[in-house]
Amino acid sequence: MNKFFFKSAKINEFRLWGLVFTLVGMGVMILGTAGIVFWGQAGKIIAAIFMVIGMISLLISVAVYFWAGMMSTSATMLQCPECSRPTKMLGKTDRCMYCKTMLTLDPAQATHNPTEQQV
Ligand SMILES: [Zn+2]
Repeated sequence: MNKFFFKSAKINEFRLWGLVFTLVGMGVMILGTAGIVFWGQAGKIIAAIFMVIGMISLLISVAVYFWAGMMSTSATMLQCPECSRPTKMLGKTDRCMYCKTMLTLDPAQATHNPTEQQV
């Protein structure tokens, strides 16, 4: 995975996407329901389509949350060398959850090697 893809810690990024899909799903379902009020009979078809889209979006959000939960169990706990707060990182390269400093476990990618402070 491209290390520049994530702008914040991967765990936070997954939580954000989970939230986005939840809100989009609920928003679409509300819009679909509102369609019945505005367009009557024709709105029911639109509402049905919107409901399906909303359900898919909610299912994706559940999957994202579930995946984030699975990932966080395998996350590495460490103390951030920049802000010295305990953070979690996924994979070999991730950002600090607080100060968003790039952290890596790969010595080849590290720009400097602070003394290890494992929590
Ligand atoms: Zn930090």
